[in-house]
Amino acid sequence: MKKLLCVLGVLAIILLIASLAGPSIILKAVQQDAPAESYAYSEVFFDTYDEVRKHHEELFARLGAESYSHVIDEADGLYIDSFYLPAAEDATNLIVLTTGVHGIEGYIGSVMLDVFFTEIYPQLDTDDTGVLTIANVNPYGMKYMRRYNENNVDLNRNFILDWDSFDLSVNEKYPQVDSFLGPIGKIGNALWHEAGFYLSLGKNAITKGADTISDALLGGQYEYPQGVYYGGNGDEASTVYLKDVFAQCLDSEYENIVHIDIHSGYGPRYNMVIFNSVYETMSEKESQAAFGYDNIIAYDSEAFYATTGDTTDFFYRLAESLDTDKSLFSTCFEFGTIGDEFFDTILSLKYTVDENRNHWYPTDNETSAEVVHQNYLELFYPTETQWREKTVADFAQATKGVLDAKLK
Ligand SMILES: [Zn+2]
Repeated sequence: MKKLLCVLGVLAIILLIASLAGPSIILKAVQQDAPAESYAYSEVFFDTYDEVRKHHEELFARLGAESYSHVIDEADGLYIDSFYLPAAEDATNLIVLTTGVHGIEGYIGSVMLDVFFTEIYPQLDTDDTGVLTIANVNPYGMKYMRRYNENNVDLNRNFILDWDSFDLSVNEKYPQVDSFLGPIGKIGNALWHEAGFYLSLGKNAITKGADTISDALLGGQYEYPQGVYYGGNGDEASTVYLKDVFAQCLDSEYENIVHIDIHSGYGPRYNMVIFNSVYETMSEKESQAAFGYDNIIAYDSEAFYATTGDTTDFFYRLAESLDTDKSLFSTCFEFGTIGDEFFDTILSLKYTVDENRNHWYPTDNETSAEVVHQNYLELFYPTETQWREKTVADFAQATKGVLDAKLK
């Protein structure tokens, strides 16, 4: 009996020390390192929405672009900024660049605009090629470092051609995962939260399969407004604007449109993937050969997954519904962050779900809040120098490849 009491006592002390020391050890482990002093484009890797806006204003004024700021919320200072550099003589090619459809992903998107206008734009024949940039499509998500917008809507699931004929219960698997991934109150002690999450997710990953879970999430859902990857139930303000921009592009004088939507958070780390729309007919092999770029996901790729309400899919469907004779190539550039192995997928899910839970039920525990924030940065905007330099190199190579193949 005495021995048992002694063991229980020691266990209680260990648990107490773990719950006191555990959270700060976890925070230390996930804390993003300060970026290096100097690396490629280091001066334009910003950390606030206001800095990004101010920089775009200066950059595009220098280039002599026409600019327009579309109001999303004046009181909160939220705007979608558009910049247009028309073709000087013949309107043949129009390049459309969109950033920040997924709010926080607009930080890396903004850097890529600098890469584009420093390394690519000067090489283009601007007599017949115009460039339209739509920056910070989801300004709320940029300002508040979220993937989702002011209504918790994932804008890249909100581009539905016709809501009247759209089935909101399209995602049959989501209800299964919401039962254990939906927001259910404040996150407490970081150590016990981690332990509880992995136990629950591990159990569900084994019984349901990690792929089932991630497919159920990534595809988008339309029934759980507080859940993750929620696509809304009608056009969001940003969507109305971008749909109109796409329609104007298709109605313009330009014969050939090439659209690149810039994202981060999916795919292998240190690798940017060109993720083609399901409506793009080029296969993976054909795209690799045409673009001189290996990391491609096309409709026939093993890693391809279907989504609903995607901007690039919408662009193709809009072109089809307008019966246009223009050529269109609309694709997504995805910068991998965490990775795409089994455990990476689990981590990505965890960071996504934790952030959403903390959005709806903000924790009182400062350490836990910081752990959630640091993990979310790692998922969409890592500070690691090697990662940042590789994003620049991949973007430059892939963009050159795509434009060489697609511009007339
Ligand atoms: Zn994204």
